[in-house]
Order: sequence, then C-alpha cells, then structure tokens
Amino acid sequence: MNILISGGTGFIGKALCHRLTTQGHQLWVLSRQPEKVTQLCGSSVIGINIDAPIPDNINFQAVVNLAGEGIADKRWSSSRKQQLIDSRIQTTQKLVDWVKQASYKPTVFISGSAIGWYGDQGSQQLDEQSKPRNEFTHRLCQQWEDTAKPLEDLGVRLCLLRTGLVIGKDGGFLKRMLLPFKMGAGGRMGDGAQWMSWIHMEDMLGLILFLIDHPTISGPINATAPTSVMNSQFTRVLAKKLNRPAIAHLPSWFLKGAFGEMATLLISGQRVLPQKAQSAGYHFVYEELDKALQDIL
Ligand code: NDP
Repeated sequence: MNILISGGTGFIGKALCHRLTTQGHQLWVLSRQPEKVTQLCGSSVIGINIDAPIPDNINFQAVVNLAGEGIADKRWSSSRKQQLIDSRIQTTQKLVDWVKQASYKPTVFISGSAIGWYGDQGSQQLDEQSKPRNEFTHRLCQQWEDTAKPLEDLGVRLCLLRTGLVIGKDGGFLKRMLLPFKMGAGGRMGDGAQWMSWIHMEDMLGLILFLIDHPTISGPINATAPTSVMNSQFTRVLAKKLNRPAIAHLPSWFLKGAFGEMATLLISGQRVLPQKAQSAGYHFVYEELDKALQDIL
C-alpha cells in the first residue's frame, strides 16, 4: 500500500515508518526536513517538503497525519499556544485541500488528536461518547479534529486518534521522567490522584494498522490501554521497575510556578477507556502498566 505520513520523523512517526516498511508498504513522509527523512525513517522512505505540492500521480491509499509542535516542549505563552494550534491545523488543512482535488483519493485518513480533547475530568471514566470540558487542550484538539472533518464529505474514512501518553523507548514523556527517577529523585506530582491514560508504542502502532485494515471503524477512537492508572501508582510501578525509591513529591504549586498553565499536563488527567477499539476487536498487547514498563525498561 502507498501511505502518506505527516510527522513521520517524530517519536511515534519513526516507529510507525519502520513497522509499515517491514510489512512491505511504500511510504512518503511530509516534513520540514525532507532531506533527513531517509536517515530517520528508513532508506526506502521518500521525503516530501511540507511546503511543496503533494504529488498527484501517486495513488496514496492511506494517510496518517501526526505533525505538530511538541505540546510539552515550551511554556504555553499565548504565542506558543498559537504555534501548537497552527502547526496542526495548517498541516491538516494542506492535506484536506490536497484530497479535495486529488485524482486518487485515499480510502482512509488517520488524523491525530489526543485525550486532552476531554479536558480534566477527575476520576470519571471516559469513552468516545463522553462530553469534553472546555480548556486549552480541548480547544486545540477540537480544532485539529474539525479541520479534518470535511474529508468525511469527500467519502474518505476518517479516524481521529485520541492518543494517550505513549510509552516507548527513546522518546515521549517516559524519556523525560526517567532521569530523575534513575537518580532516585522521582516521585508523585501534585496529589498523585490524577489519572494517566497511557498506551505502549506497540499498541499505538498496532491500533494504527488495525484502523487502516478495518473499513467499518471511523470517527474518534481512544488510543489508550484499557487500564489507566493514577499518577501515584505510575510513580510506584516505575520506581519499582528501576529499583529506586520514589519519595520525592512535586507539589502542584511548584509545578504551576515552574511550568505555568502547561502544568495541567502533569497535575490533571483523564481516565480514558478504549471502548471503540476494543468493541471493534482490537486486542491490546499491553493491558497492564507493569508489563508495559517491563518491556520498555
Ligand atoms: P513528535 O514531537 O515526536 O513529532 C511530531 C512531528 O511533527 C515532528 O517529527 C515534526 O516533523 C512535525 N512538526 C513539528 N513541528 C511542526 C510544525 N511547526 N509544522 C509542521 N510539522 C511539525 O510527536 P509524537 O511522535 O510524540 O506525536 C505525534 C502526534 O501525536 C503529535 O501531534 C502529538 O501531539 C500527538 N500525541 C502524542 C502523544 C505522545 O505521548 N507522544 C500523546 C498524545 C498525542 P518534521 O520535523 O519532519 O517536520
């Protein structure tokens, strides 16, 4: 299958490219650094400059749209928030505009979103039917999802991946947490009661492949393991796996002072269930955090 990917050079994208290439798919990656695509994504993967037109002579059967500025890379000033929005909306809009006039339209378009769509909902269990709370992460994800929506009217199957905290090797939020934990300086954040809905990279890739292959599934799909944990439990399990103490505690006031509004990523959370993926028959390889961390560490 010919597959077009945006954000293919990122943490999830690189792993996805390697998995899809191994399965014999031909990939094109839309990137701000097309000259690095081969090195980052694999020798057979072709880079396309994100500002250049998407070739019209290739029949891309699937598109995976993951591009966007890193949500936790910088404090959320108003200009940073705009960058987070623009980087996602502009790439998605470019892809939608291309599909509108493409001679060959993709059958399936998998577009990024995040569990931040739901906002902070305490310990309430959330599935794809749940209502959101109106806060920045919700507005960001809503605009991202809305930009892709016109694809449905073009007859393209649209899957909106509401992704949880992806845990994998060499990247994502786990990489940031490992150093303090390895130094014995890890610990719970805030009151530790905030929920963390995580997903192992293996299941993230497995779910994307499942969505490509299953013509009946569409709309918002939660990409999280079936068992979310509270931050205090995550902390305990991670410390145990690393054989280190986890007695440090980063109080909310400290995190708010250090990270401003972005601290909401650390001190609030969502308890999300992958209801649609499981009803459609996706079987998670890693359902429990303990086994997932065992594999990664
Ligand atoms: P990364 O930050 O690792 O990669 C994102 C990619 O987006 C980069 O490789 C980059 O590609 C591209 N990008 C960055 N800034 C811009 C920009 N200004 N304009 C266009 N493209 C840009 O992200 P992940 O792989 O971790 O995540 C992929 C997507 O999934 C992201 O959108 C993220 O928000 C979402 N997500 C991820 C989660 C996680 O735990 N990792 C959780 C929830 C959602 P290049 O440099 O080649 O242009």
